[in-house]
Amino acid sequence: METFFSRREAVLERMAAAAVRAGRAPQDIELVAVSKTQPPEIIREAHESGQSVFGENRVQELLSKVPALPSVLTWHLIGHLQSNKIRKVLPVCALIHGVDSMPLARDMDRIAGELGLFPKILLEVNVSGEASKFGFPPETLLRDLPNLLGLQRVSIEGFMTMAPLTDDPQKIRPVFRALRTFRDRCANEAGIPLTILSMGMTNDFEIAIEEGATHVRIGSALFGSR
Ligand SMILES: *Cc1c(COP(=O)(O)O)cnc(C)c1O
Repeated sequence: METFFSRREAVLERMAAAAVRAGRAPQDIELVAVSKTQPPEIIREAHESGQSVFGENRVQELLSKVPALPSVLTWHLIGHLQSNKIRKVLPVCALIHGVDSMPLARDMDRIAGELGLFPKILLEVNVSGEASKFGFPPETLLRDLPNLLGLQRVSIEGFMTMAPLTDDPQKIRPVFRALRTFRDRCANEAGIPLTILSMGMTNDFEIAIEEGATHVRIGSALFGSR
């Protein structure tokens, strides 16, 4: 019978194989279990199977689950965030993956000051240039990066992106590669590491790992299809 445990073992094996193919150490890649739509009982089972980092994309849903589960779980916000929800999100999230504008980052910095927090964030980059996507266009980010890095409280740990929705690896790989190259360029210009690359989901995590992902965000391969 398929259980969370068996699905997770299979995902970890595929992650490790992709890492080895790319000459990377499997332990350098973090599995973020995307638990959106899953009830607390299922997340509890996932935790008992060894998973401790969970990603949610909706703030309301995240806030309803956190108090229902053990406080040792680590929560990441992976979806789009609106300014009016920052105050509630900052105290419960270890990493915020989708910061996509200068005003949002500024608001976050101000509120973090009021709350006495130092949030870790990733900037979402729209490397594929799809009009429907959130994220900084690379040229905008190059312009804004010095101001972003000058924020007092917010710590920019790296970048996040979403690949186009397609099964064609030929269309996906260049997007992940572009994020990594762009990260290397920004890190070099700014003189800081920008260590984290959050890219890869159920359908494309192996490609993402081969192209340098440090965090993969996986839902359906772990929990079954939503
Ligand atoms: C839902 C979601 C995922 C996980 O998607 P799966 O295809 O189920 O692995 C990853 N990242 C974001 C931002 C998501 O919203």
